[in-house]
Amino acid sequence: MVNDKVWLKLREQFEGKGVTLVAVSKKKPVSDIQEFYDLGERNFGENYVQELVEKQPQLPADINWHYIGHLQTNKVKYIAPFVHLIHAVDSFKLLKEINKQAKKNERIINVLLQIHVAEEESKFGLSSAGIIELLDFYKTQEADMANVRICGLMGMGTFTEDELQLRAEFSKVQALFLNLKKSYFLDTEDFNECSMGMSGDYGIAIEEGSTMVRIGSMLFGARN
Ligand SMILES: *Cc1c(COP(=O)(O)O)cnc(C)c1O
Repeated sequence: MVNDKVWLKLREQFEGKGVTLVAVSKKKPVSDIQEFYDLGERNFGENYVQELVEKQPQLPADINWHYIGHLQTNKVKYIAPFVHLIHAVDSFKLLKEINKQAKKNERIINVLLQIHVAEEESKFGLSSAGIIELLDFYKTQEADMANVRICGLMGMGTFTEDELQLRAEFSKVQALFLNLKKSYFLDTEDFNECSMGMSGDYGIAIEEGSTMVRIGSMLFGARN
């Protein structure tokens, strides 16, 4: 059962605020996605390559597919022909492979760099220093990287109800985002997205500067 009332409410809430809703449809059937599409949703997020590759051809071609999960280098080729934005780039090796596959498909792929701010060790992503290191290296290779567009950062908060902690984590992402924009992306309009916030913490994330929230269970119901 999809929750169309919640979808309408979120859309209303985000309208004019510069916040993009990404409807996270992982583990949910194509028919649920089609229902939200029919309401007007165009941004959907998935985090398993095989699942995304199976769903994509069964749904309208004008969907913006967001790949929000951890991406293995050897799987980039499967989503490169159509993916709209890859949220979780956490190594230069991965960025380079995305560039290579984008070039093969004669397109430019948008990416975000994932910063690790959560307490849990299991969560992927780079430290602030790691992101700076990646960007320093990227700058030396930029001429060969014309098929990727670095659009901003992605961060996941700790799985907690501690609002202060979440606020501190999101505000750390936002501060780094602003710093990087000034240091590395002044000459482009591309670096504009801060993807943070999920069903449980999107309100705090938006207050702390999120431009893109990834919401699954609130819209599609709980996952098994
Ligand atoms: C599953 C997932 C979400 C959505 O989570 P909900 O709590 O269901 O809103 C957001 N971001 C990432 C990276 C996810 O894997």
